[in-house]
Amino acid sequence: MQKDIDKCIAGIDIGGTKIALAIATPDGKIISKDRFSTSSENGAKAILARTAIKIRELADEARKDLIGVGIACAGPLDIKSKMTINPPNLPGWENFPVGETVEEQLRVPVSFDNDANAAALGEYMYGAGRGYKNLVYITISTGIGGGVIINNQLLHGTGDGAGEVGHLTVLPDGPVCGCGSRGCLELLCSGTGIARRAKESVLSGRETSMTSLVERVEDITSSTVVDAALAGDPVARQIWNETIRLLGIGIGNILVTVSPEIVILGGGVSLTGERLLAPLREFVYSHVRILPADRIPIVTASLADESGIYGALELARQSLNT
Ligand SMILES: [Zn+2]
Repeated sequence: MQKDIDKCIAGIDIGGTKIALAIATPDGKIISKDRFSTSSENGAKAILARTAIKIRELADEARKDLIGVGIACAGPLDIKSKMTINPPNLPGWENFPVGETVEEQLRVPVSFDNDANAAALGEYMYGAGRGYKNLVYITISTGIGGGVIINNQLLHGTGDGAGEVGHLTVLPDGPVCGCGSRGCLELLCSGTGIARRAKESVLSGRETSMTSLVERVEDITSSTVVDAALAGDPVARQIWNETIRLLGIGIGNILVTVSPEIVILGGGVSLTGERLLAPLREFVYSHVRILPADRIPIVTASLADESGIYGALELARQSLNT
């Protein structure tokens, strides 16, 4: 739009280890971007002040007037009041008014959502979800989160709980999750969960080649499990197969609830690509019988670790257009 030629929007993606930011044209074309570490010792206010200064610099360099900001933030959050509640990956950010602080610093309207919802929106608008009206995005990294888009709209639900797929029960008598429930998908199948199950196997005395792939047992990650499983290690194979089975149960339950047009997987564990996707599709498509599940593609995110920043920009763009 001609009238928007001198304007820009900004997106901020606040994660446990880094803040990514970008400025873009009002229709979402990125002009420039930056990222720096979330040095939590500096506190939320100092980090957001640094972020705001950087956004101002980028907008000035591009000779554009900033008109709106979207923020994707690690949860749990109070989305309506644009505050963090008690994010485990952001120590020192308890009950912090993120939206209000950035609004004061940059003097433009701020829209705010959790990082998984924003990533879903980013993939929907700019990534693997383009052209679909109904999709489910699932991030499998240190935790498991998700976002659900129905009829082109993010679903928030009661208490903003929609899309919290990391807390689907996949093992009713399983170990206790941080949320207070038992056998949650995140606890068992996040990168952290996969690694923890592998370490427990090693510490219980099972013979496995995983120990030869790392210096110390603590260094075992989900990648160690995948590598050892594909090399034929029986213990790693058992852990990886169980991961596929539990993820498959969770995704199968999502399919029969939402019946989306596509399921998009993001996060570090999804970078294993077909080594994850091929057996996962096979499990899901053979277990979900009530609907034509194999017409629902299960794919990896195409924006990789930038789904969140694209989603933050889309939050800004949508709020300015409504
Ligand atoms: Zn849980």
